[in-house]
Amino acid sequence: QAKVAGKNCYRFYSRAMDLAVERRVNLEHELRGAWDRGELSLVYQPVYRLADRTMVGAEALLRWNHPRHGQVAPSVFIDVAEQSGLIETLGPQVLRAACSEAVRWQQLRPSAEPLSVAVNVSSRQLRSGGELVQVVADCLRDTGLEPERLHLELTETAVIGDEVHASEMLAQLRETGIKVLLDDFGTGFSGLSHLRRVPVDGVKIDRSFIADILRDPDDLALTSAIIAMAHSLGITVIAEGVEKAGQYALLRERGCDQAQGYWLGQPVPANEFLALLG
Ligand code: C2E
Ligand code: MG
Ligand code: MG
Ligand code: MG
Repeated sequence: QAKVAGKNCYRFYSRAMDLAVERRVNLEHELRGAWDRGELSLVYQPVYRLADRTMVGAEALLRWNHPRHGQVAPSVFIDVAEQSGLIETLGPQVLRAACSEAVRWQQLRPSAEPLSVAVNVSSRQLRSGGELVQVVADCLRDTGLEPERLHLELTETAVIGDEVHASEMLAQLRETGIKVLLDDFGTGFSGLSHLRRVPVDGVKIDRSFIADILRDPDDLALTSAIIAMAHSLGITVIAEGVEKAGQYALLRERGCDQAQGYWLGQPVPANEFLALLG
């Protein structure tokens, strides 16, 4: 009896796995032409300076409006894009669109302090190395965006493991004049000591730490330590996932430089973001 149940069980999981694989293969296939069909778009989430709550820029986040499934989670399709290599064509398209948009913001308010645009870059793009540096240089030249207004976000995990190559790449990227930020900082267990060896301009504290700073003294201590350590190295600190006024106030008190999160502003389509500025 147990054996039969076990067998059924096995069949069940196997069937579920087949479906997962099938769905993934379909997604990959469908993602291939999605940009050209206009199913992919960028939303922009404002980033604020904590000291005076001035907007200083926005992070570009990719969205996929699938004709049948609706919105597909970025955690799903970005992973598909990375595994399949599609990110190598998608990444530059995203970069170009985000840079053009940032130029538009500047044209809309020429006398205001220019806003920066942050673009996420996957580990695979970083590994392709020189190509990324070239893509960035071309993009800056073609769009006319001031280099210091472009911020590239790399996850901590993309950088650790291959530190020598990554450091070399980051150095080359920074030579173009852009800024490099370490995203999801604190989740990669790389420790604060890595900040000394990897040349970055800023760190974005992962929202899993920010979520509990009002209740959990350990998370607050860690956040404060990241801020102090980063500042001693001349690195900017950005908090992600600020959802409450209390978190904002506490981060400001602790000397954190910038923040983004639902309490400050949701990610919105380009036209809505423009309206926000105008
Ligand atoms: P990320 O770069 O860490 O982006 C921040 C994520 O947190 C975004 O999720 C954003 O919508 C979400 N978020 C912002 N504020 C809050 C908040 O207050 N509370 C909560 N709970 N969440 C908040 P999203 O858009 O789903 O993107 C997920 C991840 O997908 C990103 O994490 C990034 O790693 C990746 N991603 C998105 N767009 C791109 C892209 O164009 N290229 C690459 N390579 N990766 C991308
Ligand atoms: Mg990011
Ligand atoms: Mg992040
Ligand atoms: Mg993330």
